[in-house]
Amino acid sequence: MLSMKSVDPVQLTLNSRFSFKCYKSIGCFTKCCSNIDILLTPYDIIRLKKKLGLSSGEFLDRHVLIEIDEKTSHPFVFLKMNEDAGRSCPFVSPEGCTIYSDRPANCRYYPLGQASLKKMDENINVAVTEEFYFFVKEEHCLGYKEDVEWTVKSWREDQGVDIYDDMNRGWKEILFRRNLPGCELDEKKQKAFYMACYDVDRFRRFVFESRFLETFDIDKALLDKISGDELELMKFGFEYTKYILGIEETLKKK
Ligand code: SF4
Ligand code: SF4
Repeated sequence: MLSMKSVDPVQLTLNSRFSFKCYKSIGCFTKCCSNIDILLTPYDIIRLKKKLGLSSGEFLDRHVLIEIDEKTSHPFVFLKMNEDAGRSCPFVSPEGCTIYSDRPANCRYYPLGQASLKKMDENINVAVTEEFYFFVKEEHCLGYKEDVEWTVKSWREDQGVDIYDDMNRGWKEILFRRNLPGCELDEKKQKAFYMACYDVDRFRRFVFESRFLETFDIDKALLDKISGDELELMKFGFEYTKYILGIEETLKKK
């Protein structure tokens, strides 16, 4: 997780400007890949497990640490760092990131961070989600001294991060329930959350090989979609989690 000391407390928009450049011969090359905690999102896990040729279960067993949020008891997963003196990332090499094309969203955003909040749109009287950005300024990072100009928008495009935000939107909606009173989860709900949001291969077996389809009334078109498309199955996992957690009646029993 980010150290709050490195977070610049200024809320940025897509049009905010900054100067930055990161390249192989810069003096701090890969210093940002040690001694950090990288929160993984459901879409990160799918990209990483494919890149590494693993099932989601194998990836989770080998590469993550689970943390339970104190307030909500939501399970979160973090990339497991090497047990060396600098807690280096298992995917860093002298040449840079060995999984660069599938690096997690937090690595793509760096040196920016992204957060979301729910607020009331008074014009339509509906709570809407607002995404905003901030700088992560760490002493070792020399990229800020370079003179290549970016806006937050052009940085996001360059780093290919839009798809990550789109794919994780349903998961982030679940996380907003931390503002609800009495939102602690029992162990059964916690396990269901973990499976449906992070362990997509196990979730597939749960949907298609257990009594799930005898219990829930799932539309044929949706069933076709989730049986043939892993990302659709992931999104369905978010809907199932919302149902289990009582956030929304996303499923109907038979
Ligand atoms: S510390 Fe900053 S400039 Fe250096 S490699 Fe990492 S992101 Fe690039
Ligand atoms: S995943 Fe890649 S970019 Fe991210 S910390 Fe590890 S080596 Fe660095």
